[in-house]
Amino acid sequence: MELKEIGEFGLIKRLSRGAVVRKENIIRSIGDDAAVFRAYPEEVILFTTDMLVERIHFLKKATSGYNLGYKSLAVNLSDIAAMGGNAREAFCSIAIPKAVDIEFVENIYEGMKTLAAEFNVNLLGGDTTSSKIDLIINVSVIGSAPENEILYRNRAQCGDKIFTTGFLGESRAGCFLITNDIQACFKGCETLKASHFLPRPYLKEGKFLARQKGVHAAIDISDGLSSDLEHILEESGKGAQIFADTIPISQDLKNFCRQFSFDPVQFALSGGEDYALLFTVSSDNAEKVKKNYEKIFPRPIYELGVITETNNMELVFSDGTVQQILPKGWDHFLTVETRASDL
Ligand SMILES: [Mg+2]
Repeated sequence: MELKEIGEFGLIKRLSRGAVVRKENIIRSIGDDAAVFRAYPEEVILFTTDMLVERIHFLKKATSGYNLGYKSLAVNLSDIAAMGGNAREAFCSIAIPKAVDIEFVENIYEGMKTLAAEFNVNLLGGDTTSSKIDLIINVSVIGSAPENEILYRNRAQCGDKIFTTGFLGESRAGCFLITNDIQACFKGCETLKASHFLPRPYLKEGKFLARQKGVHAAIDISDGLSSDLEHILEESGKGAQIFADTIPISQDLKNFCRQFSFDPVQFALSGGEDYALLFTVSSDNAEKVKKNYEKIFPRPIYELGVITETNNMELVFSDGTVQQILPKGWDHFLTVETRASDL
């Protein structure tokens, strides 16, 4: 079915079903000129927005509407997670080319609503319009947190230990498999693809970390470990050493790298879209934070380096060799095809 058959208002009516999952603070959602809701007492507002553009961030032929919708919300929730906030309300604007049928658009919203419901986030509105060529999805999320429980990038201190909440490089490997249309060929192939399509926002983990004593700086890994760590270092005026041996690399990624002759460490360093949290903790509190975290969450956190007083980002190997790391993550101005062939 094409958009013109049911019109913009018909489409909005279809998409708005099940969009509000938490009614208590909502006065008016989809269906008026603006959404109306009560603010969150004793908390400040966090606001983030992220745009996904066809041929820049995704290839329509390589993804489903559901995965696309899920991911477009997940990347926003991940930004709220990186600040230690609660995600509350989401808005989605979408520009739809003629070639995209209504079922695909409905699946986008299905993916978005499924993830939103899981994290108790309302979808309160947005805009739909037609587009000449590409499909464009812009999602905004409003979050909240107590003012003294927000994590910033610029708070890293010398001697802090650097941790991440998940394995690195998997999404980039998944992207390689998807864009090169490689079917299951080794154990873990499908898991890697799923980590690219369906990234898990670390919202509960971010909120937990924001309340822990000694957690200083945080960011979510959207562009790659080296690029995102560089953001923390630049904002904090510090350097870092990463220990090559301790970068968390899954068995699936090792299998992948063996199969396609990639260096897993380099892959994990520059792989983007992992959406794990990267954070620093004072060395005094690191053990305790790790212990507390692992009491609550099923997966561990991984220590992978230390903040230094220099301006350098260095990779240290187990034999003592030190290599300068140049921030190299995903460039969103390159096409997905270019990224895949770049690897
Ligand atoms: Mg971010």
